[in-house]
Amino acid sequence: MTESRIVLYYKFAPIKDPEAVKLWQRTLCEQLGLTGRIIISEHGINGTVGGEMAAVKRYVKQTKSYTPFRGTEFKWSEGGAESFPRLSVKVRPELVAFGVPDQVKVNDDGVIGGGEHLKPEEVHELVETKKREGVEVTFFDGRNAMEAQIGKFRDAVVPDTETTRDFITELDSGKYDHLKDQPVVTYCTGGIRCEVLSALMKDRGFEEVYQIDGGIVRYGETYGDSGYWEGELYVFDGRMNTRFSEDAKTIGECVNCSAATSSFYNCLDRGCSNLQLYCEDCKHIPETVRCSKCEARLAANPNDPNQGVLDKVRRP
Ligand SMILES: [Zn+2]
Ligand SMILES: [Zn+2]
Repeated sequence: MTESRIVLYYKFAPIKDPEAVKLWQRTLCEQLGLTGRIIISEHGINGTVGGEMAAVKRYVKQTKSYTPFRGTEFKWSEGGAESFPRLSVKVRPELVAFGVPDQVKVNDDGVIGGGEHLKPEEVHELVETKKREGVEVTFFDGRNAMEAQIGKFRDAVVPDTETTRDFITELDSGKYDHLKDQPVVTYCTGGIRCEVLSALMKDRGFEEVYQIDGGIVRYGETYGDSGYWEGELYVFDGRMNTRFSEDAKTIGECVNCSAATSSFYNCLDRGCSNLQLYCEDCKHIPETVRCSKCEARLAANPNDPNQGVLDKVRRP
């Protein structure tokens, strides 16, 4: 049996002709029998690609041979093409959809004006050093707010975001202006969002912004549950949540009964993809598995055609 693997990577670098890079990447993946998702923009490339190990190795080598992508860090992971049924290679205005492509500037070194990169150990050094000066370091969650329900950095600020675009409104609202002269460490799952978010924050007058190299994933590999991270990590695959160790705290609460849980389930109304936390006992009760938005919509319109369509997802 041949071994298969996935690689995850991103690289911010100026791309003059994203369409040409798209064609090259698609052909390369097709020739090597790889599947996955690749986004290319004028700011660089972001991909998750899987397949047979030898083919993935060739892919990595070829991709790095293109000058703008030289030095790209590829993170290897278990699994293979079976994790992605097909190949999707797209050109988009942004690698991460903050909705402000013109505010993001990149050069050969990456995003211009981003927060200082900290290795996991350096995060701890920063917190300790500032503490001796009597200054508190604030962790700032760069993900969608829902993800922080099951895990976040200790005392982190969690912006009110349903999508990445909401960060712009949040930052411009003045809510976080008290942090503008404070040390702020942004974090996200794998680091790509914070490359952009930290630059957008600095643009808006946040003076001392840092970002964690490799995001929560790399921090967790280093410190597990014995550092500043608390809870479980939301992940964008079938698992939904993952923990760094058996010592992980369960900080999420069932929306129905407040019992501790880290399990997200889809709202069962047709056409709704909101995720909510349910405990083992409550996840089976039909009356409780509709999200609050759908509840409100139904209250306003009892004849809603989606009412009662509660079998979209079969729960384990
Ligand atoms: Zn419950
Ligand atoms: Zn819903």
